Amino acid sequence: MVNKDNFRNIDPYVPGDQPDFADMVKLNTNENPYPPAPAVLKAAEEFSAGRLKLYPPTDGGALRRELAAYHGISPENVFVGVGSDDVLAVIFQTCFNSGRKLFFPEISYSFYEVWAELYRVPYCKIPLKADFTIDPDDYIGKENGGIVIANPNAPTSMAMAAADIEKIIAANPDNVVVIDEAYVDFGGESVLELTGKYDNLIVVRTFSKSRSMAGLRIGYAIASKELIQAISDVKNSINSYTMNFPSIEVGKASLAEEEYFRTTIAKILKTRERLVKELSDLGFVTFPSSANFIFTTHKSVPAKTIFEELRKKHIFVRFFNKPLINNYLRITVGTDEEVDKLIAGLKEILNK
Ligand SMILES: *Cc1c(COP(=O)(O)O)cnc(C)c1O
Repeated sequence: MVNKDNFRNIDPYVPGDQPDFADMVKLNTNENPYPPAPAVLKAAEEFSAGRLKLYPPTDGGALRRELAAYHGISPENVFVGVGSDDVLAVIFQTCFNSGRKLFFPEISYSFYEVWAELYRVPYCKIPLKADFTIDPDDYIGKENGGIVIANPNAPTSMAMAAADIEKIIAANPDNVVVIDEAYVDFGGESVLELTGKYDNLIVVRTFSKSRSMAGLRIGYAIASKELIQAISDVKNSINSYTMNFPSIEVGKASLAEEEYFRTTIAKILKTRERLVKELSDLGFVTFPSSANFIFTTHKSVPAKTIFEELRKKHIFVRFFNKPLINNYLRITVGTDEEVDKLIAGLKEILNK
């Protein structure tokens, strides 16, 4: 038996369950309830598998170029990876090596702490304010080795103003500031344009949520040429060929479907508003959401009880058994039909 001292000792990130029941209502991992755009389905069907005998381009090829055109920047400012988790992991390996502490909010995407542990980056978790918002002043005038903030934040669903983020970026010119915009299309203010103004800013985006493509695995970063080059150098020291041909071709197709993209988001925002209202009628208090999920607590019934009772009905939401947030539920905004089933289930559980 191999001595365990040989292994990297790490508590991994635990993603939400992927249950599989025909009758389930799955509102636990912030997937988009609507299918990908028609052009995506077409590109997937028309993909010629004969091409798979060749290696793909190392930099994401046409997908990288189309993303650059979409955002009106140069391909040299774009890095593409296998979901934003892959992009963020490479950024953690590339950008936080000063030995000074990486700052990120205490309540945020729990993967940040896992990568910091994995890559031996010292870190400091910065508490949120009592109302679960981020105080920009906590990131200004404090020695650090880099900053990572999800905006909108997860699982709180709340967004910071772009002006506050800019203050943080401007106050930390020596360190990389990463803004994870996984949910920005659902209501946050993007700082993508500031990548042209600040060479310490990296904006990370994903196709998983707003583009309904979690299964394809596409994420990307936008930053200065120098930062993108440094990130690419690290990626090319691990695996040159991260982006496969189907991801490149099918991902690219989604960028041409702006109207579908906007319409789908609008539907989700409308359902979100109704969900919050109906939850309020049942005694829930919900934070103002700028994402495709909400973060909510019930006035009298513990979140864990509601989570477990919903699960018995094959209605899946996310419960975090962690200090500070263990009386809250994170609920993905599904279709109107899914929300109807959720509300009906909650009425039974709460005897309303
Ligand atoms: C979902 C999510 C990601 C990762 O998404 P990918 O599917 O890997 O692109 C990154 N950051 C946050 C805050 C997320 O919620």
